[in-house]
Amino acid sequence: KAKSSRSGHHVFVCSDDDHGDSRLRMMEDLRGALATDELVLHYQPKIELATGHVHGVEALVRWQHPSRGLLPPDAFLTLAEDVGLMRDLTRIVLGKALDQAAVWRAQGTPLTVAVNMSPSTLIESDLPARIAAMIQVRGLSAADLMLEITEEFLMEDRARARDILIRLRESGIRIAVDDFGTGYSSLAYLRDLPIDELKLDKSFVFPMADDARAAALVASIIALAHSLGVRMVAEGVEDAVAYAELTRYGCDEAQGFHMSRPLPAAALDAWLAARHAP
Ligand code: C2E
Ligand code: CA
Ligand code: CA
Ligand code: CA
Repeated sequence: KAKSSRSGHHVFVCSDDDHGDSRLRMMEDLRGALATDELVLHYQPKIELATGHVHGVEALVRWQHPSRGLLPPDAFLTLAEDVGLMRDLTRIVLGKALDQAAVWRAQGTPLTVAVNMSPSTLIESDLPARIAAMIQVRGLSAADLMLEITEEFLMEDRARARDILIRLRESGIRIAVDDFGTGYSSLAYLRDLPIDELKLDKSFVFPMADDARAAALVASIIALAHSLGVRMVAEGVEDAVAYAELTRYGCDEAQGFHMSRPLPAAALDAWLAARHAP
């Protein structure tokens, strides 16, 4: 039977909810979601371990689906990539993240916002210029934005990746390598690419509390990053033990449920205010 979707398009809906059908419907829904502004960003604070201060947050996308509730990125990002919607989605995320950075600036509580970039969106040749324009119209500076890229992107085409990163960096935007350590990649890129920050993957941080060898490995990765002049950020800090160990090893910043889950901007403001209260 034919059914009207929110966007007004007719979509074919089978009576039994087989995989193909639900994927087709999700695709229609996602197209509509981009048009009707159903994407929301949550922000997770990055805590500077030496001081306890928060200078930046990571923006993480969610989809406020009209019938399914708040969907995590894992539920729709692969689909977005497969059906060619990632470019539009990323543009929307960047716009929202920068809007929020402008709000924080206006409030007198500036925070650098980090946005996740899939490899497919980074290879657009006009990306550096487009981002520079988005920053400029909001009266922000490049220091208000950070981009999180994956090792996968760095490995696909080294020369091209290098060119893109250099152009972004020339405009003052800082670059973080996400999920560091999971990519089976050569560490040589740290030597010749303009990387500001490594985000140590959760899988290294989780076993730290009860495995001395895992902790020693993390300590040496932090030392390696520092020897190359790169900041180290640990992800997936879920308990006080990991927090204390990472602080002891000189890790620069940490993110994790132990400090805060990703939160809507207003809730993050409340979290920050409570933290700074006497
Ligand atoms: P990621 O970039 O590695 O983001 C960190 C993920 O770990 C987030 O999941 C966050 O909620 C979760 N996390 C944070 N602290 C902890 C912790 O202490 N323990 C555990 N177990 N998890 C923690 P989320 O929000 O579901 O995002 C999943 C992935 O989706 C992200 O992984 C990122 O790869 C992708 N993603 C999210 N937003 C965007 C976006 O706007 N664009 C793109 N291209 N990818 C995005
Ligand atoms: Ca990330
Ligand atoms: Ca990560
Ligand atoms: Ca990831």
